[in-house]
Amino acid sequence: MSIEEEMVKSPILVMKFGGTSVGSVDAIQQSCEIVSSTLKDWPRTVVVLSALSGVTNQLLEGAARATEGDVTAAMAASEQLRSKHHTTAEGLLEDMSGLAEFKQHCDRLIDEFSNLCGAIAILGEATPRALDAVASLGERLSIRLFRLVLKERGVPAQDIESTRLILTDSNFQSAHPDWDATRRQSQQLLVPLLNQGVVPVVTGFLGANSDGVTTTLGRGGSDYSAAILAAAIRAAEVWIWTDVDGVMTADPRIVQGARTIPSISYLELAELAYFGAKVLHPKTVRPVLDAGIQLSIRNTFNPDHSGTRLVPRPEKKDEGGIKAVTAVRGQSLITIEGSGMLGVPGVAARAFGAVAGTGTNVILISQASSEQSISFAVPLAAADQVVTALEGAFKSELSNREIDRIWATGDAVIVTVVGSGMRHTPGVAGKVFSALGEKNVNVTAIAQGSSEVAISLVVDSPDMELAVRTLHNLVK
Ligand code: ADP
Ligand code: ASP
Ligand code: MG
Repeated sequence: MSIEEEMVKSPILVMKFGGTSVGSVDAIQQSCEIVSSTLKDWPRTVVVLSALSGVTNQLLEGAARATEGDVTAAMAASEQLRSKHHTTAEGLLEDMSGLAEFKQHCDRLIDEFSNLCGAIAILGEATPRALDAVASLGERLSIRLFRLVLKERGVPAQDIESTRLILTDSNFQSAHPDWDATRRQSQQLLVPLLNQGVVPVVTGFLGANSDGVTTTLGRGGSDYSAAILAAAIRAAEVWIWTDVDGVMTADPRIVQGARTIPSISYLELAELAYFGAKVLHPKTVRPVLDAGIQLSIRNTFNPDHSGTRLVPRPEKKDEGGIKAVTAVRGQSLITIEGSGMLGVPGVAARAFGAVAGTGTNVILISQASSEQSISFAVPLAAADQVVTALEGAFKSELSNREIDRIWATGDAVIVTVVGSGMRHTPGVAGKVFSALGEKNVNVTAIAQGSSEVAISLVVDSPDMELAVRTLHNLVK
């Protein structure tokens, strides 16, 4: 078999490096080292990148200041971003022509940012479309820098904006891929490069609608980009490189004793991600599951650690216990309450219809002990709007006292314990409640989850860390 034929037969790997993995000179060097050493075993590798850490926040913060008319703050943000990228590139690139190429590219994109902010300031508003144009700049910068560093190391690479690969609807800030178009584009553009031994370095987070307008997949969406591209080009594996040793029993920032979970099932990981474990974007699991792609999560700064491997089914020995604890902050629990609710038809359907009308995402619906109340959690920032919408929808029930009250709590946290078969294992829920009770943590609601692998509880925000640490003690 010729080298070309061998190449075409070799399996494809998609590696995604998150913000901290490209956040500094050392981190980029380390990530590039991982790419070049992996190529020996995986000659067909696609690299998906996030923006340098903090950059997406800075960009969106600048746009927010511009909305308030504070052009000076927006311009200051653009100078900070320019200088951050220039300095990082100077620390990485020895070849002067590469450095000049990067700086020119950088200045063009930073000018684009300043112009967008100027326009936003004049209008006094930033549309979701404008915000996606702004947010996209971080990844458009990081891929060029990474490609130039790879080139200096002798790795043939090409940077590609995923606006050419991932085609989406026009749901700006949380776009959905058009799978057929994405498959067609990605196969057409990526596979020939891979077959020539060129490493495509692709922006995470971004797509474009059918008019070619830039969209984003949602914050933290680069993981999802990697999964989408892997499914589109039928990759064998996806490796998510981040700043911790894989998926852990809790967020190591909250629980010092958090440990790596060596293997986790799709369902468990999906629940963990959905309920706040930032280590993986919740939408990442589905495409890799559907396409039978292997997924691992590994630490860029500890590459010899095997991290976490996703497995189709939990191992028998793991069934039944609590495997991990996670938390989602910044929620509000909305309650519709009234003794007359029993007789009111379709309260839930109407309530969720009204909530959906505000464009708000309900993350959990709580288990009511009677039919006299319904509670559900929404992001705190949307709480007032949701209550107003519900009061409108139930105007007549409120006036004839079939519904007594619709109210929202202040800052609440959803704490979730995850583990396969847990809900069928007698005693787990009891242990959870008695552990929290002993620490005087007040549980305001219990979630009615559809899956068998998670139990969620709502607690007041000040109790979050105590609740997570207490429940972490129950992890096997
Ligand atoms: P990246 O920039 O690589 O995408 P993120 O910051 O999005 O990285 O996600 C990694 C972070 O997720 C970790 O630094 C950690 O603090 C946090 N995290 C939250 N829950 C977990 C968990 N259960 N396991 C591992 N990390 C977690
Ligand atoms: N840079 C984007 C964000 O900060 C996407 C990502 O890092 O996954 O949300
Ligand atoms: Mg992330």
